[in-house]
Amino acid sequence: MSDAKIIDGKAFAQNVRARVAKQVQDLKDYNNVTPGLAVVLVGEDPASQVYVRNKVKQTEECGMKSLEYRRDPDISEQELLTLVYGLNENPEVNGILVQLPLPDHISEDKVIAAIAPEKDVDGFHVINTGLLATGSEDAMVPCTPLGCLMMLKDFYGGDLTGKRAVVVGRSNIVGKPMGALLLNESCTVTTVHSRTQDIEEECRRADILVAAVGRPEMIKKEWIKPGAAVIDVGINRIEKEDGKTKLVGDVAFDEVKEVCGAITPVPGGVGPMTIACLLANTVTAACRQHKIEEPK
Ligand code: NDP
Repeated sequence: MSDAKIIDGKAFAQNVRARVAKQVQDLKDYNNVTPGLAVVLVGEDPASQVYVRNKVKQTEECGMKSLEYRRDPDISEQELLTLVYGLNENPEVNGILVQLPLPDHISEDKVIAAIAPEKDVDGFHVINTGLLATGSEDAMVPCTPLGCLMMLKDFYGGDLTGKRAVVVGRSNIVGKPMGALLLNESCTVTTVHSRTQDIEEECRRADILVAAVGRPEMIKKEWIKPGAAVIDVGINRIEKEDGKTKLVGDVAFDEVKEVCGAITPVPGGVGPMTIACLLANTVTAACRQHKIEEPK
């Protein structure tokens, strides 16, 4: 039996939110600034509705202004772009989040490109991607990988230098920015994906393993280097024997926790950190726009 640390993402996120709330209060008290986050939701995708509801609730709980823009699924691309341009110009709005996915007739790339990079709190704009890739501290970092990094740094006491990191998945929203963040922390980074030969062997070399695949419990005990830190980004709904469903990650949690040094559960690991990091990014964006020193 191993005594792997189960990283409590819920508690971690609560601490981040408390820190953000204090920063927001300071901005109000000392700078007369109330950070504002605009969330744009197109259509009625049930998962997106839940995400947006949680984002709005937590934004308000932290003392920030939340502006919500719900639009019908038949909104034209041009109308949505015009909405984004308006938010770019709105001084009450420091962060803009357009909930993905968008309906098929709207280009997500075009909409993301329309967001002012300094208000792009999701960190998906190519300017921010480029800043992250070049190691600039000015990048807005995508929320999910940022949350993963915070938990990893906490586990390792702040320094990841020289760790061998393997990221499973190469999406623009998780895998690629995660790899860039770990490289910026001086890890030796390998990214593996569906075309990689012998993924298992690559994973077994990892001190840090981040799984962002979307395949239920794909990563098994035999893939893990003893003592490794395992961050499970995956969210997969599977059917149980009794016909009910449950959420599982990309990592076979019960068996992997027997060998690894630390692991995030699903649910209750990476998920809660994503919104907490969105709130933190909104404070960062507000400080930059008002030329106020960013809170550490
Ligand atoms: P994508 O589907 O965009 O990317 C999945 C990646 O996994 C791709 O790079 C793909 O490779 C790779 N992949 C797929 N199958 C395999 C396989 N059998 N072996 C190796 N690699 C494989 O997903 P996302 O990055 O958007 O999300 C990944 C998971 O994380 C999902 O479960 C999603 O729900 C979850 N998620 C959770 C968040 C949170 O807040 N906790 C936030 C965002 C996502 P290739 O490129 O070759 O196709």
